[in-house]
Amino acid sequence: MQDTPGGWKRFVRKVEPYVPGEQPSDRNMIKLNTNENPYPPSPDVVRALRMMSSDENRLYPDPNSTVLVNAVAERYGVKPSQVFVGVGSDDVLANAFLTFFNSENPILFPDVTYSFYKVWAACYGIPYETVPLTEDWRIDPALYARKNGGIVFPNPNAPTGVAMDRSAVREILLKNRDVVVIVDEAYVDFGAESALPLLEEFDNLLVVQTFSKSRSMAGMRIGFAIGNEELIRCLSDVRFSINSYTMNRPSLAAGTAAIRDEDYFRKTLDKIMETRDSVKDLLEAMGFFCLESCANFLFVSHPDVPAKELFEALRERHIYVRYFSQPRIDNFLRITIGTTEQMQVLLDSLTRILRERAV
Ligand SMILES: *Cc1c(COP(=O)(O)O)cnc(C)c1O
Repeated sequence: MQDTPGGWKRFVRKVEPYVPGEQPSDRNMIKLNTNENPYPPSPDVVRALRMMSSDENRLYPDPNSTVLVNAVAERYGVKPSQVFVGVGSDDVLANAFLTFFNSENPILFPDVTYSFYKVWAACYGIPYETVPLTEDWRIDPALYARKNGGIVFPNPNAPTGVAMDRSAVREILLKNRDVVVIVDEAYVDFGAESALPLLEEFDNLLVVQTFSKSRSMAGMRIGFAIGNEELIRCLSDVRFSINSYTMNRPSLAAGTAAIRDEDYFRKTLDKIMETRDSVKDLLEAMGFFCLESCANFLFVSHPDVPAKELFEALRERHIYVRYFSQPRIDNFLRITIGTTEQMQVLLDSLTRILRERAV
C-alpha cells in the first residue's frame, strides 16, 4: 500500500490536552499545588481496603456500581436512579459534556475557570463561548441569559475559590430551562451552598461532586453526579456505550466506606476551613490580596512581588503552589490548604522571601 502524504496523521483527532498540576517526586516537599486534602481518608476506608481479598479482583466489578450508588443516594437523600458515578469527577464531567452538549449553539462557561472545560469542548467538537467574570471575580447570572447549548461552571469557582449563593445559581437555571446546566461542586463541602435542593424545581440541573478533595481520596478516582432520573439515564447510556466497568472493586469498597463516615468527614472539613481562614488573615497582614474563598485553597496576589517570582522562590524551598500564566490571573498564586504545620512553613518562607527581596 502506498503511503499518502500526511498518511494516517490526516485522520488523527487533534487535541490540545489539559495539563494537570505536577506530582513531583521530591520527598521533602510541601505539596500545595493540586488541592489534595492533607489529611488521610477515613480509617473506615483503610479497613474496607484491608478486608478485600485480592482474589476478588479476578472478577469484573458490578457494572452498575450498586453499593456506591446506594451509599451516595442515601447520604444525599435522593433515589439511586438519580445518581451516576465515575472515575473522578473529570470522568463524570467528560461523560456529561459528551451526553448533554450536542447542540449547534455554543455552551457557556466563565473566562476564568477550570481549564478542563475548554479541553473537553475542543476534544468533542462542542462550540463554546466564555463569559467574563465580573471585576470582583464573581459569576454574574445576568450574563448567562443568552442563546446557548448548555452551561457549566464550578461553584465555588476554580481557581478563584469564590462561591455563588444558591439564589444566584437558581437565577441561571430560571433563564435556561431548555439546556442542561452542570454545576461542578468539586469544592462545595468547604463552605458553599450546594445546588442539590434545586433539583426539585429543575429537571435540567446536573450537580457533580468528587471524593478527591473533601474526602481525601484523589488517588482513588471517584466522582459522582446527581440529577433528574432521565438525565442520569441518558448519562448512563452514553457511559455504557464506551466502558461498562468504570469503577474498580477497590474504589467501590473504599468509596462506600468513606461516604458513610460522616463524623470523620465533618472533622477534616472543619480543620481545613479553620486553617484557611486563619492563613488568609495572616497573608493579608503580610500585604497579600486574597479572594474570599469557600474552597480548600486561597487565590492570592501581592502588590509588590510578581506571582511568578513568588512561585519560583517557593519552589526552590520545596514548596509547590500553582501558578497559571493566563490572562487576568497571571499575577495570582493558588495555594492549597495543607496542615497547620505545612501552612506555618509556607508563611515563614513567604516572610523570608519578601524580606530578602526588600533589602
Ligand atoms: C479537582 C477538580 C475536578 C476533578 O476532580 P476529580 O479528581 O477528577 O474528581 C473537577 N472540577 C474542578 C473544578 C476541580 O477543581
